Amino acid sequence: MPTPVLAIHGGAGTLLRSTMSSELEQQYRAELQAILTAGERMLAAGASAMDVVCEAVRRLEECPLFNAGKGAVYTADERHELDASVMDGRTLAAGAVAGVSRIRNPVLAARAVMDQGAHLLFIGPAAETYVEKLGLEMVDPGWFGTPQRLAQLHRARAEAAGALLDHDGQARTPIDEGKKFGTVGAVALDAAGHLAAATSTGGMTNKLPGRVGDSPLIGAGCYASDESCAVSCTGTGEAFIRVAAAREVGALMEYAGQGLDEAARRVVFEKLGRVGGQGGLIAVSRDGEVSLPFNTEGMYRGMVRAGGQPVVGIYGEAQEATG
Ligand code: ASP
Repeated sequence: MPTPVLAIHGGAGTLLRSTMSSELEQQYRAELQAILTAGERMLAAGASAMDVVCEAVRRLEECPLFNAGKGAVYTADERHELDASVMDGRTLAAGAVAGVSRIRNPVLAARAVMDQGAHLLFIGPAAETYVEKLGLEMVDPGWFGTPQRLAQLHRARAEAAGALLDHDGQARTPIDEGKKFGTVGAVALDAAGHLAAATSTGGMTNKLPGRVGDSPLIGAGCYASDESCAVSCTGTGEAFIRVAAAREVGALMEYAGQGLDEAARRVVFEKLGRVGGQGGLIAVSRDGEVSLPFNTEGMYRGMVRAGGQPVVGIYGEAQEATG
């Protein structure tokens, strides 16, 4: 039986090279490490892949550094519309919510929808009512906002209007917040040999109200099957939907006999590229292999095996290796 493993991501995007050694970079790395360390403990204690990915994504949602839950990006009308999904590779059970604004942890809502088993995807206020009755924690819609995200919306608007941006005096993150796809996600293989995936997002800055990306769509931004792999995506959602990105990795493994890394790279570099898709994905196979490809300059990411030490990365492989 392969060693249990967890991989996580906190979004992909364009790097700000001037900030390589910033304090913020250390914060991102420390947060990813802490989440992986907690996940490793769960996996080593025999927790299910589903419990581990939900807990990892819940923690990413709680962290304002990432665009999901607290710290989610703003829509064009200065609100938050959050999307999340989960899938259990053992049974192919799945759950999702889209366009929600009051559920503190959308990933737990997706899990609750899956556990109820009546339907798979709920949207908007009806989704909120549904999971509120199940006892999930609700918050005021303003709870998700941060001054940094509001400033980011204003910059996005100015950029869309062709105005010059002035970043001076602004604390810079390693990946350019204005050009980052900040969805979060987790994939895991547990000690019983089962796979699970979870994805959660605030969507894209300045998105039109009602727009839904790939993150809550099973097969696009999230997929898991014990037959092949578990996948969570981040990037330009419309492109990921068009190539059914997450499922495509599994399909290439199941029908074309490709290995995990070959399949994952093919989807990110060939299939997404063809439709102008930008971003990346994290994937773990039934044999415990891990692949974390992205076609942007960077992707917040990390992995850990039960009994091992977390490894985190932000930049491309070569740059990570040289520090
Ligand atoms: N994929 C997400 C979406 O299109 C955005 C992201 O990855 O940040 O909503």
